[in-house]
Amino acid sequence: MDAVTLLPHPRTEVLFESPIPPGTGWPGDPAVPETPVAEDAAQVATLAAAAGDLNDLDALVSVCRACPRLVDWREEVAVTKRRSFAREPYWGRPITGWGSVQPKILVLGLAPAAQGGNRTGRVFTGDRSGDQLFAALYRAGLVNQPTSVDAADGLATKDVRIAAAVRCAPPANKPALDERSTCEPWLTAEWQMIAPSVRVIVTLGGFGWQAALRLLADDLPALAKPKFGHGAVVELASGKQLLGCYHPSQQNMFTGRLTPAMLDDVFTDAATRAGLRR
Ligand code: SF4
Repeated sequence: MDAVTLLPHPRTEVLFESPIPPGTGWPGDPAVPETPVAEDAAQVATLAAAAGDLNDLDALVSVCRACPRLVDWREEVAVTKRRSFAREPYWGRPITGWGSVQPKILVLGLAPAAQGGNRTGRVFTGDRSGDQLFAALYRAGLVNQPTSVDAADGLATKDVRIAAAVRCAPPANKPALDERSTCEPWLTAEWQMIAPSVRVIVTLGGFGWQAALRLLADDLPALAKPKFGHGAVVELASGKQLLGCYHPSQQNMFTGRLTPAMLDDVFTDAATRAGLRR
């Protein structure tokens, strides 16, 4: 049997193997060794529907193994690692939603990054997209610090929750259709728990937009299906509002398709619409 390699968490210095076994002390790990594991789509649906609260749900999400291709990929990345992170343990598990349990704003993205969330265990944490996103949220007064480096860095928010439509890092950032469908009950359950407080949903990119349209199907105005665009706004029947924003990917930011000023406009607008600024 291969010896297990233990490496120190970059902040807490506690030693971990990769991927991180549930309940072994990783910062923010919601699961314990006994947390039930969904092994297929039917079990995802059953467990998601039975989750009692967000803590329960996060625990269940964080140990899910329902998509064989994505489980193989996330765990392979966790073991092989990028050279610059070779001395770090990798989370290598699904990424739960993060932030407030009674948010005013939901930010919905595509899926975690292989060397970002899949490494640090927190959504949009430890990658270039997250650097842009959290800097903009900070400038809009929605989080307490401009950086999101690791799951023990003290990042906090009263007003925002951030979630991915697909909870495991996919190869080439492209989840398959069946993987998207298999994962959807986790997002649906999360939405049902936070919807009462949410005023504004900001989607990052077209994939997040489509996920939001499915999630909000009963709340959409009786129009043609709303089209995604940066700055698109949909007034929902419930009074909530759906906003479109280009994804802060390295490519979008590098090419100038999306700029920090454009991100600021979206999040300032979202905060105003949510009643968090005048
Ligand atoms: Fe489970 Fe979603 Fe990850 Fe598939 S993508 S293994 S459903 S958490």
